[in-house]
Amino acid sequence: MSSSLGTESRPLRVAIIGSGPSGFYAAESLLGSDLTVKVDMFEKLPPPFGLVRYGVAPDHQKIKGVTRVYEKVGDREGFDYFGNVNIGQDLSMEEMKTHYDALIFACGAQTDRRLEIPGIDLPGSHTATEFVAWYNGHPEFQDREFDLSQEVAFVIGQGNVAMDVTRILAKTTDELKNTDITPRALEALAESKVKEIHLVGRRGPAQTAFTPPEIREFGDLEACDPIVRPEDLELNDASKAELADRKFSSKKKNYEILKGYAERPAGEKPRKFIVHFFRSPIELVGDGRIETVILEKNRLEGEPGKQKARGTGETVEIRGGLFFRSVGYRGVPIQGVPFHDAWGVFPNEDGRIEGAPGFYAVGWIKRGPSGVIGTNKPDSHATVQSLLADVPELEPCPDPDPEAVRNILTRKGIHIVSFPDWRKIDAAEVENGKRLGKPREKFVTVEEMLAVL
Ligand code: NAP
Repeated sequence: MSSSLGTESRPLRVAIIGSGPSGFYAAESLLGSDLTVKVDMFEKLPPPFGLVRYGVAPDHQKIKGVTRVYEKVGDREGFDYFGNVNIGQDLSMEEMKTHYDALIFACGAQTDRRLEIPGIDLPGSHTATEFVAWYNGHPEFQDREFDLSQEVAFVIGQGNVAMDVTRILAKTTDELKNTDITPRALEALAESKVKEIHLVGRRGPAQTAFTPPEIREFGDLEACDPIVRPEDLELNDASKAELADRKFSSKKKNYEILKGYAERPAGEKPRKFIVHFFRSPIELVGDGRIETVILEKNRLEGEPGKQKARGTGETVEIRGGLFFRSVGYRGVPIQGVPFHDAWGVFPNEDGRIEGAPGFYAVGWIKRGPSGVIGTNKPDSHATVQSLLADVPELEPCPDPDPEAVRNILTRKGIHIVSFPDWRKIDAAEVENGKRLGKPREKFVTVEEMLAVL
């Protein structure tokens, strides 16, 4: 029990694990509270910002502007950044509990949901996660290879991640060269032979998970025409009811944009973005690599808002060798923290991790992989409110010495990257980008980043 936690003489010590949007919004909320709080944020890689740096597409730079808010948090008194520190490896959960009164997990959903079909592990089959992390310069994904000599590619799933992957495949070098895409990805894409990109959705045009600006962008790409079959746009009664519901207004907008594409005369651009509805991949076939994708036709069953795809047994085959699954992300467990395997999250109530007093969750590891960056602000704030309400009951950590963790890491030979250090890496990247007309040229290895310091 502690009534003194959160005072000048004994600040509340909170560790935030993960430096993406949900972590920074949690830090902002804690530092704005009435208590005296010391926030230490931990990140496995040297640079902060998680999915803003390694997830948001390079051609969507405006979205990345949100880091200006996080930079301000980085300057706040009471905030320290520990980049290049892997929690669970460099610091054990026991060490964390020894030095912090509360831990907030902001570690996101770091892996992909599986698609269990025969042939899924054939060469040529990839997760969207890998491709996105590769073109965005994530150090752990730079050795991945994607066979862009294929003429036909498939992207499975119709969320915004699928749209990002499709758009990067569809755009020309000219459309990408002034972004912060890595030079290696740009070179590989410049040689790409991909002509057809099939975006495959298991449900219909009334159930799309992407947002209208994303589908609208495909209307005026330099070298790619969108193709939608008019027969795919037919709606059953339940789907008509969904589109009439204001709750689904963005899906209605999507539908109208898709209808516009279906009504267009055939385009002459060299690449085609072909949208499929009511189709699920059921097998990838090939000798040593994917050669053909077998899709099963679906019909929808269920109440409006709850319709599910059911296979009809009728199949179609499309030849093609590059396959990306983009069917959602999943959290990964951390030793010593309860994990809900079916949902891929840390089970929690209002952000309080069940069965682990003093442990809290924010962002995708709290609620699952949904929502845009802004969704995290109220979500993180709500968890922080739970934490602050618990302060009188929190067990104070046995060793609150503010230098203890830094000393342990230094003893272990870990090169801690501070926020001022990040600023140096950032400035070097921006400088290197200037020469190339890019917002930044990212360092793609940890060694290069540390060398700047
Ligand atoms: P998502 O929005 O949940 O979309 C997942 C897609 O995969 C859905 O179309 C879903 O179809 C489909 N799917 C799931 N399981 C499937 C299966 N077994 N077979 C076939 N299809 C399957 O997830 P996401 O695209 O990974 O995006 C995650 C979050 O990040 C979203 O909230 C997204 O909006 C956000 N994000 C935003 C931006 C942006 O703002 N520009 C960019 C990237 C990501 P059903 O509907 O049938 O389940």
